[in-house]
Amino acid sequence: MAAPREMTPYQQAVAVASLLAPGFVVPNDCRPPPLDSPYSMPNAPRAYRSGVHAGVDFLCSTAGHPVVSVLDGQVVVAAGDYQDPTLQEWNEILAVATALGATPDYTLAMLSGRYVVVDHGIIDDVGHVVSLYAHLDAVDPGIGVGMSVDAGQRLGGIGNTGTRAGVLGDAYGQLHLHWNFYVDGQYLGAGLSESETRAVYAELFKYATGTEPRPEPGTVDAGTGLHDQDGDSFAPRPGPAGPGTLTPSGHRPLDEPVSLDQALEAATRLSDDIVVPSDCQAVPLRWPSALPNAPRAYRSGTHQGVDFGCARLGQPVVAALAGRVVMAVGDFEDPSPRQRSRLLDTAAALGATPAYTLVMLYGNYVAVDHGIIDGVGHVVSLYAHLDGLDSGIRPGLWVEAGERLGTIGNSGTYAGASRSADAGLHLHWELHIDGHYLGIGLPAADTRAVYTALFADAGGTQQ
Ligand SMILES: [Zn+2]
Repeated sequence: MAAPREMTPYQQAVAVASLLAPGFVVPNDCRPPPLDSPYSMPNAPRAYRSGVHAGVDFLCSTAGHPVVSVLDGQVVVAAGDYQDPTLQEWNEILAVATALGATPDYTLAMLSGRYVVVDHGIIDDVGHVVSLYAHLDAVDPGIGVGMSVDAGQRLGGIGNTGTRAGVLGDAYGQLHLHWNFYVDGQYLGAGLSESETRAVYAELFKYATGTEPRPEPGTVDAGTGLHDQDGDSFAPRPGPAGPGTLTPSGHRPLDEPVSLDQALEAATRLSDDIVVPSDCQAVPLRWPSALPNAPRAYRSGTHQGVDFGCARLGQPVVAALAGRVVMAVGDFEDPSPRQRSRLLDTAAALGATPAYTLVMLYGNYVAVDHGIIDGVGHVVSLYAHLDGLDSGIRPGLWVEAGERLGTIGNSGTYAGASRSADAGLHLHWELHIDGHYLGIGLPAADTRAVYTALFADAGGTQQ
């Protein structure tokens, strides 16, 4: 066999589409896929949020028309309790994106409205495949985190949650499925030209739309797309990080390393205003495993937050700084331990925690956008494993520092999956600056110094 040769990103995307096409189903059959509408396709600009479209928009004027899984897989996110913010709140959240010139991660998550993510596992010669279905009117009652779904199985119905029409309360405007298709953490076709993008998705849907007769199972030459005219085999490679790379997990590479001095300066500037998000116990500054950068072997990843232990269920969790809620997931139901293990097996095989697996591990969570803070950058905080959210906590809501968001729990943890109500109780809290957790990449002693500085003025709770 000839030595593998490197493929262009376009050749690689077509090869992936060819391999997946035989089992593929269109996620919404209301109309043909919008291959001839570049604005509805990946790589189209989205000026309103200073970003690039990463998915395909399937327009459908029938609210509730079925949205189905494109391949067999396992549900990893089922966020069905989203409520649209008011127009003014929405405008203020998007003003931050405009000022930054990019859509922050959790703002993008908010713009998904009610959404489902399906993990299709690691597919031979393709990679780790994940699909996302956004703006649903509702997530089907039977669809829960951890459950297995078949290609063609209904996940929810067409809606407009997370769109401007949804915000305006217009039941008929902007009804569509926004559908993302990720391979190894990046949307298929990222960075390709308009015509190349069209060709990749046409290949993906060629059997599902009847453009070509669907082959009998077992008759597909899976290697078709993987050989050039000389018969040499190509070696698919992970694409470069870029727009649409899944980032809530902090997997986005740093443009340049953040130094200890920079992290300390940011922490010191924030320390005047910061409130300890859980005062159940002292801030765990002496336990490296409770701080960012600690290894998390069970998911082949790195801890990016602070774990505030708390032995009592239902203790308050409060906002660490004033800001606007952008994500508020309060309807999380833990998968079974076995379902959870399956998703973590994929992380082990990849040697990293996939972005939406990390979202699953948050359980019930709130993300608060603190805007752009002088001398620091764009600041977002996240509160995970909550038992429940306080009533009224929803995207768009302004909260003051110290204002209650919800209560301590163990949702998303092993104890949560095991239905052990009083085990593993803690707040997992993250502080992100310009899309990366504070102190990313620093050694343990430096990380401790940064978080000690952050909480230096926060009262008598530190050790
Ligand atoms: Zn944690």
